Order: sequence, then C-alpha cells, then structure tokens
Amino acid sequence: MPPPLTLYDNYTRSLRPFAPLDPGRPVGLYTCGPTVYDYQHIGNFRTFLFEDVLKRVLRFDGYAVRHVMNITDVGHLTSDADSGEDKMEKGSRRTGKSAWEIAATYTDAFVADAHALAILDPDVLCRATDHIPEQIAFIADIEKNGFAYRTADGIYFDTSKQPDYGYLARLDKQGLEAGIRVDLGDKHHATDFALWKFSPPGEQRQMEWDSPWGRGFPGWHIECSAMAQKYLGDYFDIHCGGEDHIPIHHTNEIAQTEARVGTRLANFWMHGYFLLQNDAKMAKSAGGFLRVALLVEKGYDPLAFRYLCLTTHYRSQLNFTWDALDAAATGLQRMRMGVHALRQHVDGVPDAGAVERFTTFLRDDLNVPRALSVAWEVLRGDLPDKAVTRATLLKFDEVLGLGLATWQPPVETVPDDVRLLADERLAARGRKDWAESDRLRGVIHSLGWDVEDRAGAYALKRR
Ligand code: AMP
Ligand code: ZN
Repeated sequence: MPPPLTLYDNYTRSLRPFAPLDPGRPVGLYTCGPTVYDYQHIGNFRTFLFEDVLKRVLRFDGYAVRHVMNITDVGHLTSDADSGEDKMEKGSRRTGKSAWEIAATYTDAFVADAHALAILDPDVLCRATDHIPEQIAFIADIEKNGFAYRTADGIYFDTSKQPDYGYLARLDKQGLEAGIRVDLGDKHHATDFALWKFSPPGEQRQMEWDSPWGRGFPGWHIECSAMAQKYLGDYFDIHCGGEDHIPIHHTNEIAQTEARVGTRLANFWMHGYFLLQNDAKMAKSAGGFLRVALLVEKGYDPLAFRYLCLTTHYRSQLNFTWDALDAAATGLQRMRMGVHALRQHVDGVPDAGAVERFTTFLRDDLNVPRALSVAWEVLRGDLPDKAVTRATLLKFDEVLGLGLATWQPPVETVPDDVRLLADERLAARGRKDWAESDRLRGVIHSLGWDVEDRAGAYALKRR
C-alpha cells in the first residue's frame, strides 16, 4: 500500500497528511487566477500547471474535487501595496481598448492557452466584476466587526486589530513598521490594505460601482475572500497560488476572512515557485515575456512546456532556457512515440506494482519528477506484457496530462512528383517490367522516399 497523501502546507510550514475537511463532499480547491490586463506568460502557467497536477493527483487518489478559479478583472493595482493605478485601466491606455474589452480578450486568451497546455477547466471560473455585491457585503461585515477605517481615498483594513496578522508569511510587523520607507498616505500601518477604493474626485473610471462608502471599486484581495466564500464556504480544503502571493495577497485574504467569520479560509496553503528567466522572476510588468503562442511560433508543441514543468518539483524555482525546453520536447516526443508503438496492444490492465511506485511518489508532496521516472522505467520495458505497459502508461497520463492515448505522428504529405513516380512504378510492376520498376524505385529513393510494395498498391515512407 502506498503511504497516505502528504502535502506541504505553507501555513504551518510543514508536510501534513491530507484529509478532506468533509469526507462526504468534494475537496474544495481555490486557485488564484490571472489578472487579465495582458497575456499570461509561461511563468504564470507554471503555477497553473502545478495546480492542475495537484487537482489530477487528488482525483487519481479517488477524491472528487470542486475547483474554483477567479479572474481578476478589476482592482489589481500596479503595486501590490495599494499604490499606483489599476492594471486594467493602464492596459486600456496601452491598447486603446476599453477595460471591459481588455478583460474579455485576455480572459479568452488565458482559457485558450490553458487548453493548449491540457490544463483542466475549473468547475467555477468567476470574474471579480460579476461579484461586486458579494464583495461589498464582505467589506460591510469586516467594518461591522471593527476591522476597517476610512481614509480620503478608500476603506482600509486595520491589520493592527489582528494579533496573528501576517502569520502565513511569518511577517515581522514591528520590523516592517520600523523599516518602512514608502509614503503611508492616510494608512495607519504599513501593512494595512485597501478593501474599497474611491474613484478619484471629479474623475469617472471605466470600472466603478456605488457602495455604502461611495463610488469606487474593490481592493484586489477582497474578491478572492468573497468568491471563495460564495463557492466553497468559510473554510475549505486547499488554497493555491504562486509564491509571490504569500506575503501580501494570501496574507490579506486570510486577514479578511478571519475578520469576517473567524476561520483562516483554507486548511492547506500551497504555493508554486517561480519560473525564472535569466535567473530573475518572469514578470508581465517587465515586458517582453514568453507566451505559449511564442513557443508555438518557434515550432514547439505547448505540451513540451508542460513536460518541462513536470521535470521540476513545484517547490523549487525553475530557470527557463531554450535548451531545457528542447530536452523536454525530445522527452515528450520519445514518450509519445513509445506509447504510439504499443497502440495495437489494447485490453491490458495497469500493473499494480508500477502504479504503486508512481502513486508513492505523487503522494510524497507531488514528487512528479520521480513519478515521471517511473513512467520511463515502464516505457523502457520494465514490464513483460505490452498491453499492460500501455495500460499502465495511460493510467499515469491521467496525472501527467501529455495526451498519450490520442497522440498520432504527424501525417507526412507526399509530394505530387513522388506520388506520380510511384504510380508509374506500380503500372510497370503490373506489366512485369521489373527493370523499369527498379529504376523508378531508385529515382524515388533519390528524392528522399522509400517505396514499399503492398498487394496491388504501395506505401511511401520518408527515408
Ligand atoms: P497574475 O496574473 O499576476 O495575477 O498571476 C497569476 C498567477 O501566476 C499567480 O498565482 C501568480 O502568483 C503566478 N505567477 C506570477 N509570476 C510567476 C512566475 N514567474 N512563475 C510562476 N508563477 C508566477
Ligand atoms: Zn486570490
């Protein structure tokens, strides 16, 4: 028997055995989604791929999962610390499109890229702008419970009211206060953050709503607390995001939910570590980032990037290089061809021993790189029966998501002149003109093709 599923929980900073909060209900999984003012880069997708693998592992282990992902289409400011402008309005200026059009365009692009990477759709994909009343109700409760104050530009969360504030990131509040260099504005403490921001006086924003406090828009963090609560309840199983979310976004989500209902939102807090480029964080704001479309333009299958991500544990940073992507593309291609070669061997059942080894690695905090090596052992002939080998690899692919069951080698189109020569050769063979048939075989060969005889027909294969 493989050991129980163990996951690294960043809240307790420990590996903990996973058990659902309510065994009678699907595992609740909330993953912070994209901010849709621009395309997502492959760094963002590294985090979404980690979350996809987590979901697939939970399912592989027999759990039903309810997965909720938000789309941030308002309120995420250019600085995570509540200063700067709304990224959506900035994107609007950059492109000349409305903030609403931008949100729609980049949400569609995100979904298309996610599909290209075989990322499974969440059960609920929810937009912040569709949940303004829920966010207002959430803020109103926080205010009622005494955790909010008003400044000239918005309603802020008072982090000094929570002794445990910042626990997820082990924030040193005193140190932060003492070392603070940025302008606090009207904020009372460095760590306080906006729940609701007012539209600038005399200015109409593209995205703004009336609220009990005045016309404006929600702060970035409140959408996740409000939508997670709506779709998964006050306290659910697992909350994920990238490592950058630990000190600010997730810290503040926890603060809000604790202030409203007293729970810390999720039982497990899991984070995907960064994809780096030239040893620095890949970031949208830096410009010139790598997109899935660029990989395709350069001739890569998007799943080569998925494979690359599978080769590194989610809690290690991964430096992207084209050489590493090349190696991943080769690995993917070999695995696909290996499984394709077994396509006649149907009706096998997965090998219990191999599945147990594979599962043991997955249950060890998603050790996918080691699980992948079990797939290679199986493919390289670990098992005596080919149908069992194939069934085992297809079972593994439920987690790997490399499309091994359906992959076909690309069909090569034979050039017209080669086909014509092969037709002539077939006719010569019909006349039993073996000399001409051999001559034509030679010509076809010199054009880079081999011709094989079939009863009354031929097959052409590239040499
Ligand atoms: P955003 O669109 O900026 O809200 O980010 C979407 C997701 O990508 C979040 O979970 C981020 O934490 C994550 N993320 C951002 N940059 C990177 C990176 N370079 N590598 C991995 N994940 C990232
Ligand atoms: Zn979030």
